[in-house]
Amino acid sequence: MTLSFIRAAHEAPAAPGAYVLLVRLAHPLEVAAGRRHATLAPGRYLYCGSAKGPGGLRARLARHMRRGKRRRWHIDQLTESGESQGAWITLAASECDLVAALGALPVPLDGFGSSDCPRCRSHLLYWPAGEAPAFLAAQKC
Ligand SMILES: [Zn+2]
Repeated sequence: MTLSFIRAAHEAPAAPGAYVLLVRLAHPLEVAAGRRHATLAPGRYLYCGSAKGPGGLRARLARHMRRGKRRRWHIDQLTESGESQGAWITLAASECDLVAALGALPVPLDGFGSSDCPRCRSHLLYWPAGEAPAFLAAQKC
């Protein structure tokens, strides 16, 4: 699986695909997923999602990277409080494939972004300080 890294949404194609969004939190953040709550420590988080609607990856990533949106998805809690720093994108995999490829990373909150997913504990992963996850380090930036 090969991914490309983009820093701004306009670099992504207006085509369907999946992505790993990188969000950095400067401060602790209380988040909810259904009835579950957790306080996320400052640091880097990776959110795996897919974009299948009009405008594809470009429109979806533009929404994630824009502030002041109406909150609709779990991930909006992070993108409104933290800084979206870019995304790895692919036209050839699903968000669940991306979660599986990143599988060794810690899950900050069960069910986050994955309430409709039978396969993943969470679509949000925590990137501990230090080395890049092997799967992302292997991608071209
Ligand atoms: Zn999944």
